[in-house]
Amino acid sequence: MEPWTLRKKSRCYNCGQLVDHTIEIYPNQVFVRCSNCRITRSYVIKTVYIDRGDVIEEEKNRRHLYDNWLLEKEAECSNCKKHTFHDILITVAGVYIRCRSCRFTRYYRFYLIYREG
Ligand SMILES: [Zn+2]
Ligand SMILES: [Zn+2]
Repeated sequence: MEPWTLRKKSRCYNCGQLVDHTIEIYPNQVFVRCSNCRITRSYVIKTVYIDRGDVIEEEKNRRHLYDNWLLEKEAECSNCKKHTFHDILITVAGVYIRCRSCRFTRYYRFYLIYREG
């Protein structure tokens, strides 16, 4: 799987600026980085499964300290190999990425915060 890169404009919890955040998604890790202060949250893969329920619907309204982000990305699914949309939910606690075609889901849990040098 090629890494996916997405952007989301949001107020940074660290520097307080309304700026782009870069989201890099790898098979085993996700990085969310503020383009201004470079503070970075990292997540590591916890599990992969076929979502029989609707984990994104359940998790997207769960309240955390910061806003949840719901994004989408058109790309080849590593499971069904179709070029299709994926729903991407990012919370402070975890990241969920689900293929809209086969519902293959990757769940990454929050790992640590650091400032990229
Ligand atoms: Zn920042
Ligand atoms: Zn798929």
